[in-house]
Amino acid sequence: MEAIKRALADGWFREQDTAVVLYDLDALTARVEALTSAFPAETVHAFAVKACPLPPVLAMLAQLGLGAEAASLGEIHLALAAGFPSERIVFDSPAKTVEELRLALSLGLFVNADNLDELDRLDDLGRDMGLVPRAGLRINPQAGTGRIKATSVAGRYSKFGVPLPQREAIVDAFGRYPWLSGLHVHIGSQGCPLELLVAGVGAVYDLAADLDARFGPGRVAVFDLGGGLPAAYRDADRPPSPQAYFEALRVRCPGLEGNQRRLVTEFGRMMAAPCAVAASRVEYVKRQPGHRTAVMHLGADMFVRECYNPRFWPHRTRLLGAHGLEKQGKPVLHHLAGPLCFSGDFPVRRAMLPEATAGDIVVIEDVGAYTLSMWSRYNSRQMPRVLGLRQGHFSVLREREEPEDLVQFWLGGSMSA
Ligand SMILES: *Cc1c(COP(=O)(O)O)cnc(C)c1O
Repeated sequence: MEAIKRALADGWFREQDTAVVLYDLDALTARVEALTSAFPAETVHAFAVKACPLPPVLAMLAQLGLGAEAASLGEIHLALAAGFPSERIVFDSPAKTVEELRLALSLGLFVNADNLDELDRLDDLGRDMGLVPRAGLRINPQAGTGRIKATSVAGRYSKFGVPLPQREAIVDAFGRYPWLSGLHVHIGSQGCPLELLVAGVGAVYDLAADLDARFGPGRVAVFDLGGGLPAAYRDADRPPSPQAYFEALRVRCPGLEGNQRRLVTEFGRMMAAPCAVAASRVEYVKRQPGHRTAVMHLGADMFVRECYNPRFWPHRTRLLGAHGLEKQGKPVLHHLAGPLCFSGDFPVRRAMLPEATAGDIVVIEDVGAYTLSMWSRYNSRQMPRVLGLRQGHFSVLREREEPEDLVQFWLGGSMSA
């Protein structure tokens, strides 16, 4: 927490900042290295933009040689603006419009079609535009759901992909469309054990082997195994490393590391989640028998999942004094409440911390993924300043929103209030 203390002392965490988010960019760089060294060198690691769409973070990842997984028009533009070369951008979405597909084709993105109708669209567009689509097909291996239903996408029913038992139709599509060159699978995000990830990816890998056997070696030239490696949110969490994951995949999928097939990954959470903390000033501490509530400046606006589904989304916390020194004292039970006008607004419900007083700073750990990216406009609060720390130097990754920014947001494109 030395970094928060320094940010306070050096004026990066300013008086007017009720909260900040701080990214450790060296930690993120180290995670990129751990990932790339675990997989074959030619693998394209497409970072899931939805996990952390901050442009300077994306730009750094692009510079480090990663690709980007974009699942909307906005994410495509974010990826391009960050400098990802278009051939390293993977476009996934279950709702791609004809216009979006046209753009993807003209830019040369790799498109993972979600369903068979989308393949027909791609074929029509390709002919229309005189371009050969670069595309794969998303398969749902129906491997089962993880601990968290809402972030599991490979159960028997899913809105994503073509169910594996529709094998004939899948084979048919590969027979019909010579440009169709890849298979894509994604099992879920957080809460999926290694065995589930491996089983799901393995089932689609078997399909790739079948297609090769039927149509000739190299028919499936691109194998995209998605994301889904979990992050540690509690002391007891021991998520598998990328290396352990690849080792397990290699056992299940013989020939995986061979050169005949380009591998693609789409990790988000495990890359970015551990690389940021949020720090909020405590505005008030309220006492009533049996309850001690520290009211902070971050709530369900930044911690949507945590507030609505606290059982699945815990965070470690610490308490610092106003100058950033870790507070000492016997830990007692605190409710950490957000600032929003509804009673479920508790990013962390039961935190054991030294007794908090107004002006203290609560630090919430592992907020680097799926927090700012899920920011809610409820109550129109200002998104906090986002800082980056790299080789000892602070920078502002995103400036704190001003009230005018909020007014502008709600005005949208309309003329005036
Ligand atoms: C969300 C998502 C990812 C990233 O998942 P993580 O759990 O963040 O690794 C990758 N691919 C697809 C298709 C996704 O929807």
